[in-house]
Amino acid sequence: MTHTSFREDAFTLDVDYIVVGSGAGGATAASALARGGAHVAVVEAGPWRDPEHYPHSMYGAMRDLFDDWGAGVAQGRALWPIVQSSCVGGTTVINCAICVRTPADIFDQWEREHGVAGGSFRDTMWKHQDALETELSAELPPPESLGRNSELALIGAKALGYESHVMTRYTKRCAGSGQCLQGCRSERKQSLNLQFIPEVLAKGGHVLSCAPVHRVLLEGRRAVGVTGRFRHPQTHKKGGTFTVRARKAVLVAASVTHTAPILERSGVKNPMLGLGFRAHPGTGVFGIYDDVVDMNKGATQGWASMAYRDDPGFKLETLSIPPEMLSSRLSGVGQELMRRIGEYRHIAMWVLAVRAESVGTVHNGLFDRSVVKYGFNEADMLRLRKGMGVIARTHFAAGAKKVVPGIFGLPYELTADQLSLIDEGPLDPRAYIAILSHLFGGCVMGKDPARSVCDESGRVHGYEGLLVADASVIPTNLGVNPQHTIMALARTFVDRLLEA
Ligand SMILES: Cc1cc2nc3c(=O)[nH]c(=O)nc-3n(C[C@H](O)[C@H](O)[C@H](O)COP(=O)(O)OP(=O)(O)OC[C@H]3O[C@@H](n4cnc5c(N)ncnc54)[C@H](O)[C@@H]3O)c2cc1C
Ligand code: SF4
Repeated sequence: MTHTSFREDAFTLDVDYIVVGSGAGGATAASALARGGAHVAVVEAGPWRDPEHYPHSMYGAMRDLFDDWGAGVAQGRALWPIVQSSCVGGTTVINCAICVRTPADIFDQWEREHGVAGGSFRDTMWKHQDALETELSAELPPPESLGRNSELALIGAKALGYESHVMTRYTKRCAGSGQCLQGCRSERKQSLNLQFIPEVLAKGGHVLSCAPVHRVLLEGRRAVGVTGRFRHPQTHKKGGTFTVRARKAVLVAASVTHTAPILERSGVKNPMLGLGFRAHPGTGVFGIYDDVVDMNKGATQGWASMAYRDDPGFKLETLSIPPEMLSSRLSGVGQELMRRIGEYRHIAMWVLAVRAESVGTVHNGLFDRSVVKYGFNEADMLRLRKGMGVIARTHFAAGAKKVVPGIFGLPYELTADQLSLIDEGPLDPRAYIAILSHLFGGCVMGKDPARSVCDESGRVHGYEGLLVADASVIPTNLGVNPQHTIMALARTFVDRLLEA
């Protein structure tokens, strides 16, 4: 077993398969290959961080675990941040480990609109999801770890009469420290740096960290390796070159914002490359309660509702954020801002993830930076606004005395008789603070090579030994949290690759 990190000198390696990226798709693909007896190298841009070294603060997490300090944005009418991780384990290190099976309607839609995922595809995916749930200890949070933030949401939804539930997450006895976004120092969250990556090493594989792949090496239309230069984990100074050669195939799983740009830099020709970027933009509404909520005590995310997934198209969840993150969401200055931050212990935060229909692009830009262009159409703005209204009403049904909508142009706080201000709020995306954390597309799968980049086995059309194994292949929005789908796709693709 070998882990190679930053080096000043040149480094070379020969393996059967290379997996670029070690997140939800990459780590899962690599472990499946290793289980199949293959000799694998995982090449990861970010550093290796053990849980004991995860930072305590949000600032430290952005510095040490987030991609580009969390400074990426989608360019459109509004500049909404794109949040992802860059470390071994990828975004599973900073995500909330929510585990949702791919809904049946998604397979129907993929078959109908993209000619993929028919026949036994759905059963294969669900079989993999059965196994993944066992391997990653999917569980409900223990009642003592759920937290008041989620308890209040259950009360509010019940009072309004819509479906809601406590969420299943890949955790082992979640201790309710509310720190998933900074990495779980107590190792309760089963992020893939703790699960599948160690298995790859134990089975004789290699992991290169601090090793951003510049391009895939092509000989004609065959992928034969990858190359790049090591990057220092603190200074980001460039180190020696690395070249890893693959006897059999290269699987690119560097996330939606990086996979299509890597293929573009490598000279892959496909008119669909970088198109079909989609997201679940999310925003939150705070409720202010007389009683103490202490949202930082309890599972970071513990409650959800799918009641509005189909119509009009959003998912509701609780989300606990630390005080320093909350303060960046509050408006005001000086004493007024301090008073608002001082209410932290009484604030509950609930969010919606919009099942958006808007589509954007992701391309390689100047100095190899990914450029995402993504506008939000009016139908999606209506979904966002409607979802915020539902959350605000749920807060009042749970006993909140005020809500903080965070919409530009509206008062800072609203009472229950002012809810129509949210219902009639602006439809300009610049008036809202949303983030993009569930991303899809850029290398979408499909039957028709003229309308897609990959086939339903992740193989890039027209190339040999070149696959995509991350969220980039997903051709539609899911309307549910994506990690479970991404992992099952990675396993499905690897099964087919090893069978070929
Ligand atoms: C804050 C947050 C919370 C979330 N919570 C949940 C949740 O609870 N449940 C859920 O289902 N989903 C959640 N998600 C979404 C989920 O984590 C992602 O959809 C998923 O991790 C994406 O998987 P991926 O393999 O496509 O990319 P990632 O997991 O992002 O992995 C990509 C990896 O590739 C590496 N990489 C990038 N460029 C290169 C390069 N040039 N060379 C080598 N390596 C490279 C990156 O450093 C990264 O490690 C959340 C996301 C965020 C941001
Ligand atoms: S809430 Fe805390 S204990 Fe539970 S998984 Fe997240 S970081 Fe770990």
